Amino acid sequence: MPTLALPAEGGCRCGRVRLKISAMPLLTMACHCIGCQLMSSSAYSLSAAIPSEGFEVTKGEPVIGGLHGASKHYFCGYCMTWMFTRPEAIDWFVNLRPTMLDDHAWFAPFIETWTAEKLPWAATPAVHSYEALPAFEEYEGLVAEYARTQG
Ligand SMILES: [Zn+2]
Ligand SMILES: [Zn+2]
Repeated sequence: MPTLALPAEGGCRCGRVRLKISAMPLLTMACHCIGCQLMSSSAYSLSAAIPSEGFEVTKGEPVIGGLHGASKHYFCGYCMTWMFTRPEAIDWFVNLRPTMLDDHAWFAPFIETWTAEKLPWAATPAVHSYEALPAFEEYEGLVAEYARTQG
C-alpha cells in the first residue's frame, strides 16, 4: 500500500485554491448519505479528518457552498470543486476530500457511514460500516484503531 508522506500539498481542479496538510488523518471515511451523493455527483463522498493545526489553505480563498448552515462546505469559487468541510460545532479537525491531494494513492476509507442510503451496488473496503453514523462515544476507539493500522 502507498503511504502518506507529510507535508502533502493539493488543490482544486483549476489550481486557484491550494492547500497543505502536515498532520496524519485521525480517521478516513466514505459517506453514502443522500447529501453526499448530491454534493459529490457520485455514489459517496470521501473524507480524511485532518487536525486543524495540520491543515492550511496556501493559495486562494475557498467559498462556502453546499449547506450554508452549521457545517460549512468549502469550494473553489471558480471551478466549484468541493474541497473540504468544517463540521458543525467542531473546530479541531477539518474533513478534507482526500482526492484534493496531488498524491492520494494512499487513501482508503477506514469507516463508511449512512449505508442505509447507499446505492445498491456501492461498496468500499471500509473496515467498519454504519447504517447511519457511529455513536459519539465510538469515535475515540475508531481513531485509536485507525492509528494502529497506520503503524
Ligand atoms: Zn478551482
Ligand atoms: Zn454524507
